[in-house]
Amino acid sequence: MQEMTYGITLPEKPREFGFFINGEWRGGREMYERDSPSHDVPVTRTSRCTPEDVNDAVAAARLAFDDRRWAGLPGSARAGILLKTAEGIRQQREEIARWEVLENRKPISQARGEIDHCIACFETAAGAARLLHGDSFNNLGDNLFGMVLREPIGVVGLITPWNFPFLILCERVPFILASGCTLVVKPAEVTSATTLILADILAEAGLPAGAYNVVTGTGRTVGQALTEHPDIDMLSFTGSTAVGRSCVHASGDSNLKKLGLELGGKNPIIVFADADLEDAADAAAFGISFNTGQCCVSSSRLIVERSVAEKFEKILVDKMKKIRVGDPFDPETQVGAITTTGQNETILNYIAKGKAEGAKVLTGGEVLDCGSGRYIAPTLFSGVTPSMSIAREEIFGPVLSSFHFDSLNEAISIANDTVYGLAASVWSKNIDKALTVTRRVRAGRFWVNTIMAGGPETPTGGFKQSGWGRETGILGVEEYTQAKSVHIETGGRSHWIAS
Ligand code: NDP
Repeated sequence: MQEMTYGITLPEKPREFGFFINGEWRGGREMYERDSPSHDVPVTRTSRCTPEDVNDAVAAARLAFDDRRWAGLPGSARAGILLKTAEGIRQQREEIARWEVLENRKPISQARGEIDHCIACFETAAGAARLLHGDSFNNLGDNLFGMVLREPIGVVGLITPWNFPFLILCERVPFILASGCTLVVKPAEVTSATTLILADILAEAGLPAGAYNVVTGTGRTVGQALTEHPDIDMLSFTGSTAVGRSCVHASGDSNLKKLGLELGGKNPIIVFADADLEDAADAAAFGISFNTGQCCVSSSRLIVERSVAEKFEKILVDKMKKIRVGDPFDPETQVGAITTTGQNETILNYIAKGKAEGAKVLTGGEVLDCGSGRYIAPTLFSGVTPSMSIAREEIFGPVLSSFHFDSLNEAISIANDTVYGLAASVWSKNIDKALTVTRRVRAGRFWVNTIMAGGPETPTGGFKQSGWGRETGILGVEEYTQAKSVHIETGGRSHWIAS
């Protein structure tokens, strides 16, 4: 092992992973090698699965669902396994955090915090597994009794992105398992390690073979095969709106599988003159820089009341300049490298476009040299107009565009001027204004005088082109069930055919 600064070691040679089907590890495929985006050394090697591997994984999940080894258990037994998994993750917190940093480059302190959230997801879903229930109708007259059963939808395909490899996984997997479904997961190829590590933790916790299967490889081959597979009952996809759209086509062209989609965002943070400007500026700096802005709920559009705009932007610039960007293993680091070379180029292209279209860089806008890896300084653009690409398109980087407004209605109209509707934040000490904005801006998650707050108890998901369906919370379990209406006649039938 090579010694690193900050007491963390880089692997001497990349860790090799197989893929996981029916409770067993398989290998022997072409391998993909992943370099640490912050350190530029190879850290993992994962399998490039084939469409035949996808068929095997789906068949294993199908059998595990149909023979009721998982769905047939009492909710309390499923809850027990989810709680043991939570404990298993807790025990491996440091190990999981290390692989998240190595493959994804997020700061170690952030990775640890995310893993604590993942543990909470398993614990919350365990409670939901015990409480999940249907409904009954005792009001259909004395001769008829109605019940609504909640049944698991079946085999779920799960495709996850690279920006929160373990967190997004854990915001889905325990809730899907709580419902009684079985799964085939395909992580983003560049960040597959922690999805594979979870396979062992689940198996040790007692999850039956076939309930959680992982196939690794590219989206084009493995992801596409899942979206088209006729034996997958529901597909949960998190990633770009473009691929989300292709999932819709693939579902329509195959078996009309149900879709859960969590897609892009261009999320507003609305600041009124009566807000605590120091608090709001801290939130705005955090909202755009957290996870290097590679976050679907990043607040990438600042909409600030004109009377305080200049003052607010000055406070914000001062805070953004103080953000500690650097080696993610440094416990003091707040922002690490950009996760992929492609994403780095995308962000730099948007910065160039913003400048070319006439917006003014108030801070950032440049590459930072941190020894190895690709780093971009948190960037604030002012003078942004609605038609500019930095105003309309998801950049998925630490680039914030500032707009100014004169009235509440104008603030709402700018906030809603997007095809997306994932999240929003409003800052005001006036409850009337804050609540009016909350009710009129179309977004699936809303924060009032705070940002990115909340746990796995509440649902997540988007309005408009940000997606379909909800994950986490009770709704996140019900999403993976379907309702069956049952009518039971008591007493004799009143005959249709005269005797
Ligand atoms: P993608 O949508 O391409 O990737 C997300 C997941 O989908 C990955 O697992 C990927 O696999 C897989 N995938 C790719 N193509 C297909 C396909 N045809 N069928 C099924 N699955 C597929 O996102 P990118 O990584 O290309 O990022 C591009 C942009 O998407 C970002 O700049 C950002 O704007 C947005 N994005 C949004 C996210 C969110 O949380 N809402 C998350 C990630 C990206 P693989 O990567 O292995 O090829």
